Amino acid sequence: MVGSSAGTLRVASRIAIVGGGIGGLAAAAFLHRAGLPSVVYEQTPQLREVGAGLVLAPNAVRLLRRLGAMDRLRDRAVPLDVGWEFRRWADGRVLSAENLAGSCERLYGERTYTVHRADLAHAIGAAVPPDAVQLGKRCTSVTVRGDTAELAFADGTSAEADVVIGADGVHSTVRGAMIEPATATYSGICAFRALVPADRAPGFARRRAQTLWIGPGHHLVHYPISGETAVNLVAFAPAGDYTVESWSATATVEEFLAEFAGWDPRLQELIKGAGTPGRWALLDRAPLGRWSHGPVTLLGDAAHPMFPFFAQGAAQSIEDAAALARCLAQDTHAPARALQRYESLRIGRTTRLQEVSHARAHVNHLPDGPEQEARDASLAGADPLVASGWIYAYDAEAEETARV
Ligand SMILES: Cc1cc2nc3c(=O)[nH]c(=O)nc-3n(C[C@H](O)[C@H](O)[C@H](O)COP(=O)(O)OP(=O)(O)OC[C@H]3O[C@@H](n4cnc5c(N)ncnc54)[C@H](O)[C@@H]3O)c2cc1C
Repeated sequence: MVGSSAGTLRVASRIAIVGGGIGGLAAAAFLHRAGLPSVVYEQTPQLREVGAGLVLAPNAVRLLRRLGAMDRLRDRAVPLDVGWEFRRWADGRVLSAENLAGSCERLYGERTYTVHRADLAHAIGAAVPPDAVQLGKRCTSVTVRGDTAELAFADGTSAEADVVIGADGVHSTVRGAMIEPATATYSGICAFRALVPADRAPGFARRRAQTLWIGPGHHLVHYPISGETAVNLVAFAPAGDYTVESWSATATVEEFLAEFAGWDPRLQELIKGAGTPGRWALLDRAPLGRWSHGPVTLLGDAAHPMFPFFAQGAAQSIEDAAALARCLAQDTHAPARALQRYESLRIGRTTRLQEVSHARAHVNHLPDGPEQEARDASLAGADPLVASGWIYAYDAEAEETARV
C-alpha cells in the first residue's frame, strides 16, 4: 500500500482492529472503502451477535447506507412509523407519541429503523473482505514500541501493527493496556432483554412502533425487528445485588414477569411469550479524558460505554468508524496524528451522549407523585425528534470534512 518509513501506514496488514462487534466490523468496512486494508482480530471462533434488537437512528442509517448495508437490510430492518410512544405503567395510557413516518425523513433525510443485531453485523460484515477477519484471536496485551504496537494473543501468536484500534467492547483489553482502568461503579439498574416471536405477541406490540412503558423504578421498551417476525423487549429494573455485565448472562421469564407485576396486564401477556431473557447489569463509568496513545486508539464501547437510554451506543461506534477511516485516509504519513485528530473530533460528542443517557434513568423511573405528573405534562408537549436534532442531523463524515 503506502510508503515504508517508520510511522507510516505501510502494508496491507498494518492496521489491526481488536474486536469484531458492530464497531470493529464498521471500522474495517469504512477503512476498506477508503482504500486502507485492515485485519480484525476477534476472540470468538465465529462472528456472532446476541439475540437482541437495536434502534438505528438517522445518524447511523446515513453512514450504513454508504456501506451498502441498508440495501442488504431491506427485508430485515423495520422502518418505524411511531417513536417515543410513552405509556403509563398502570393502564397503558399514551402520554405522548411521535409520528416518524414522514417527519423523520423530511427533517433528517433518513428514517429510523429497528434491526436484529445479527442482521446488522451481517450487513456491515458483507462490506469487509473475508480474509480481513481472523477468528479465535483473543488479544491479551498491547505493547507500544515507538511508532508501532505489538499485540499478543491467547493462542501464543503475536502481530505488529502501525495502528491498533481497540474495538473490544466495554471490558476492553486495549483500553486497559493504555489508560488507567476506569473504575466501574454500581448503578443499581439492570436490563432484561428478550425476543418474542411475532405470532406469540399481542397486536399492540407488532405495530411499527417503539413503545416505552414508564413507571416507578422500571421501564420497558418494545419494537418489532427481523422483518416483523419478532418483537424485541428491553426492560430496566432495580439490580439488587446483581452486577454481571455480560451479553451471555441470563434470567428466567418468571424473574422478568415479577419485575412488572401489577403493571398493565397486557405487558404480562407480552413477557410470557418471551424466550430465555438476557440480563445485563448497567455499570457506571465516567467518560475518559483521552482515547489514544501513540499508534493505539479506542472505538465504540471500549472508548465510551453509555447507558442505552438514548439507543445510541452502536450508532456512536459506527460514527467513530466512519470518522476514524477519514482521519487515517487523510493523514497516512502520520497515523498517530490522525488518531489524535479522530479523538478530538469525537470525544466531545460521545461524552455529551454518555451524560444525557445517564440522566435519563431518573426521569423514566419516577414514582407516582408531583414530579411524575410534571414529567408527564412535559412529555405531552415535547417533540423529541426535533429536540434530538443534534444527534440525528449529524454526519460523521461531513463533520470530519468540514473541519479539515
Ligand atoms: C440492553 C442494551 C440495549 C441497547 N440498545 C441499543 C440501541 O437500541 N441502539 C444502539 O445504537 N445501541 C444500543 N445499545 C448499545 C450497543 O449494544 C453497544 O454500544 C454496541 O454493541 C457497541 O459495539 P462495540 O463494537 O463497541 O462493542 P461490542 O458489541 O461489545 O463488541 C466487542 C467485540 O470485541 C470482542 N472482544 C472483546 N474482547 C476481545 C479481546 N480481548 N480480543 C479480541 N476480541 C475481543 C467481542 O467478542 C465482541 O465481538 C444497547 C446496549 C444494551 C446493553
